[in-house]
Amino acid sequence: MERWLKVCGRQSGLSMGVFAEGDGYPLMVVESSATIPGNPSLYLSAGIHGDEPAPVEALIRWAEENKGCLKAWNLTIFPCLNPWGLERNIRFDAEGRDLNRSYNSRKLPRITAQLALIKGRRFDVAACLHEDYDARGFYLYEIAAARPHFGEEICRKLSPIMTTDSRSNIDGHRARGGLIRRRIRPDMLAGHPEAFRLHFHYAARTFTLETPSEEGLASRISVHREFLSFLLKKPKTRYGNYHGNR
Ligand SMILES: [Zn+2]
Repeated sequence: MERWLKVCGRQSGLSMGVFAEGDGYPLMVVESSATIPGNPSLYLSAGIHGDEPAPVEALIRWAEENKGCLKAWNLTIFPCLNPWGLERNIRFDAEGRDLNRSYNSRKLPRITAQLALIKGRRFDVAACLHEDYDARGFYLYEIAAARPHFGEEICRKLSPIMTTDSRSNIDGHRARGGLIRRRIRPDMLAGHPEAFRLHFHYAARTFTLETPSEEGLASRISVHREFLSFLLKKPKTRYGNYHGNR
């Protein structure tokens, strides 16, 4: 939180707030202080699974390194959605729930509060950052929605840092070169991940990046950082118009 506070301010145009409490910890959001029409909008989140530390570190490092460029975006960032789990290296919340299967539940005040906060917002890109113990390299989910699709390009960009997970079937889904491009329907899972919710209500394109938990921490962090830099460097025009593209 101290590091994020340092990133906030006039240069980055970001400010920090607490939107809910989770297992005794404040849950924070970092967002653009002013929404500039015409700027592309980006949703980023990390740390919903407490045993996935690389994305949490990568997100703050990326923000520290790009402080001067962040004003060109309308940003909504959730730097760590499960701080209780992160401190204990536990995937779940204190009640043993998988928060990332709870986005269609109204029983969790922390998720209700998060969704209330983004109500009415539309994101050109939403990215959820994760890690996976079974992964054999990094892989990327791209929910098939707005075109152009960027999945292949992202995997190519990240592959010099770490090999892609070359399996043709990852977690029950067809994969190619580390990319899983899926169409999703609301009835596919009983408990909805954050990415489903974002796709159905908020975002033109939704990515979930996974790095292998058994690899070294430094290279996992690099993969996430490079991915975030890719999103930031993309010319605005490439994202198209949200409403026209949907
Ligand atoms: Zn995860």
